[in-house]
Amino acid sequence: MTLSEMALTTDGKEYIKPLPHLSLQTFPTPSDYPVAWICTLTVEFEAATEMLDEKHGSFKGDSVDPNVYALGRIGQHNIVIVCLAKGWVSIASATSTVAHMLHTFRHLKLGLLVGVGGGAPSTASDIRLGDVVSPGRGEDLLYVADYPHKIGEETCRNCDGTRLVKREEWPVDNVKVNYGTIGSGDVVVKDGVVWDEISKSCDGILCFEMEAAGVMHIFPSLVIRGICDYSDSHKNDTWQHYAAATAAAFAKDILQNISSGM
Ligand SMILES: [Zn+2]
Repeated sequence: MTLSEMALTTDGKEYIKPLPHLSLQTFPTPSDYPVAWICTLTVEFEAATEMLDEKHGSFKGDSVDPNVYALGRIGQHNIVIVCLAKGWVSIASATSTVAHMLHTFRHLKLGLLVGVGGGAPSTASDIRLGDVVSPGRGEDLLYVADYPHKIGEETCRNCDGTRLVKREEWPVDNVKVNYGTIGSGDVVVKDGVVWDEISKSCDGILCFEMEAAGVMHIFPSLVIRGICDYSDSHKNDTWQHYAAATAAAFAKDILQNISSGM
């Protein structure tokens, strides 16, 4: 599935165009899909579909379910991928999307919430943006929490380099997996001081994101986030593609190590 196969409909939601040569008549029925892969952004959806070993095409639910799904297989598992539409990033929309999915796919056993999130590095947890060989390399910049981004500037070119946190060089191609607490909220955290306080009060949150709280109470899922920024005012989207890819690759790795019986 590529972006070229996506279409924008009149209600502003991004949908996957049906692939006419594939239908559920030639592939398993919804009850044969035990794993749900939930993402939010187009880049995350694209990364997810790229991880499929076999693509089964797209699937539209019944009149009750407005979601459009991408279906496929990773290892021994049939996977249904669902993506929240642009502008719907919130706890309520995540709940609604997943509720509809559970209506259509009634035999789901495992949920993965995979995508990008804002890191909250601390002295205890040295968290870095996903590594790349070139342009991004010099842009993995962490400023002290109380130093705000220059208002009106798109990049950090004019931010004060003396306010950067001094950290040792990160080896090229080093993607570390951190296991710990992920904070989920209904607003984007863009303030270094705020995340610093929240992280300390919650015993070391490693990362912030916006959908898990809306999913966990109706469908407990494993949350996997690639770090695309540091949740501060210096945040931008430069690392989103890379972080989405590393999160998706890690999710695939997990699925390949889970037996079909789960
Ligand atoms: Zn900045």
